[in-house]
Amino acid sequence: MNFTAHGLKNMILNREIKVEEVVKLYLDRIDSLDCKVDAYLYVSSEEALKRAKELDKKLVSNEKKGGLFGIPISIKDNISVAGMQNTCASKMLKGYISPYDASVIERIKQEDGIILGKLNMDEFAMGSSTETSYFKTTKNPWNLEMVPGGSSGGSAASLAADEALLSLGTDTGGSVRQPAALCGVVGLKPTYGRISRYGSVAFGSTLDQIGPMAKNVEDCALLTENIAGLDNKDFTTADVKVSEYTNILTDDIRGKKIGIPKEYFGEGLNSDVKKCVEKAIDVFRQNGVKIEYCALPLSTYSLAAYYIIGCAEASSNLARFDGIRYGYRSKDYADAIDIYTKSRSEGFGDEVKKRIMLGTYVLSKGYYDEYYKKALKARNLIKREFVDIMKKFDAIICPTTTDTAFKIGEKQKDNISMYLSDLYIVPSNVTGVPSISIPCGMVNGLPVGMQITSNYFREDLLFNLAYSFEQSTNWHNLKPNI
Ligand code: GLN
Repeated sequence: MNFTAHGLKNMILNREIKVEEVVKLYLDRIDSLDCKVDAYLYVSSEEALKRAKELDKKLVSNEKKGGLFGIPISIKDNISVAGMQNTCASKMLKGYISPYDASVIERIKQEDGIILGKLNMDEFAMGSSTETSYFKTTKNPWNLEMVPGGSSGGSAASLAADEALLSLGTDTGGSVRQPAALCGVVGLKPTYGRISRYGSVAFGSTLDQIGPMAKNVEDCALLTENIAGLDNKDFTTADVKVSEYTNILTDDIRGKKIGIPKEYFGEGLNSDVKKCVEKAIDVFRQNGVKIEYCALPLSTYSLAAYYIIGCAEASSNLARFDGIRYGYRSKDYADAIDIYTKSRSEGFGDEVKKRIMLGTYVLSKGYYDEYYKKALKARNLIKREFVDIMKKFDAIICPTTTDTAFKIGEKQKDNISMYLSDLYIVPSNVTGVPSISIPCGMVNGLPVGMQITSNYFREDLLFNLAYSFEQSTNWHNLKPNI
């Protein structure tokens, strides 16, 4: 299938294709392919077809048509859709049905988007490969022996395999951008406060953002403009105007200044990935951008700060899963404490337990100052460094990941190397600035992603820079042979 979301919307509005036909095409595709890719945990065929028929009626009425009219969208299984499961890929929430819509889902529905189903992910969004899912491991559509990345691996794979046109993931420490890079699609981690998180299951509350994903920049901008903005149900959302990103999209980026932080091109970076990103930087030069090397020495401490802050917040957020209010409850227990202990021991997987223990430790008396408070101080310094660098540059560019997709099982026992692969992506969560990952090359048949980061609330600039690159290259049009 060769649709783009913006193109398909126009085809539907021009009555060249019916929404019902579109939904059937996608459901058939999922039916025939997802047994190989394993992107979906739940396919909402009935609801999607019902909605499609309603929209086909709306099409011939005078009613106003929404900004996502008829576009099939897939949703990570930690974002609530009323009446559908919301498992976070955990045994803890197996069988849990969400009673309400997240704010982003409300907006998608208002804008006439179609929800195709819920996607696999790392358990509670902790991981970089979807291997920590309790249910299954999603495969990378470019090579089914490889991981799709994570934690939003189902989202990225569903796009790369053409099993959806738009997708929502969440990004606490790179979980939208890393799988986007490994699957050759576009993923945005918006500014902290740009998109409401009401109805997404909290992991690290000062880091989490819901991130729009798509197969090209214009589609990503389309989804973003339809879901972003102030939400009185999430007090961390900011009252900053949301531009109509698709209307102001331009590939004229002459005169912009981009910084290349040398720390992000050093040790640990695969030399072929490095070459791809360097070539991509040349494309920006040709498009009239001024490129200069720069230094971000403090940002290299982001990874350490992230794993302390992220675990601390996770240990507190996940305390609610106690086997009493909802979620998994152990069959066999003596008293209340026993319910907590057994339900949590049996309901959570190893990676989640490890983070809860680490987080509890860094918050405990005697260690709080040494670890947690220190990480917060580091975070402040890293933020200041970013604010300063953004006075000199419009954006900075680096690889999204240190390497291309790795083999399923390869890093499962080597946590440190899995954590280290988050090196370039966590600074944006620690500081709150927006970053986008776009495809910029191929190495041994696997996609390479480039990350562009800008100042707070300058998603418009990210889209334009990314769009100009896309207009000059063909990477986003490549498709896996599946
Ligand atoms: N790899 C990161 C982690 O395991 C991803 C977290 C996220 O963004 N949800 O913490």
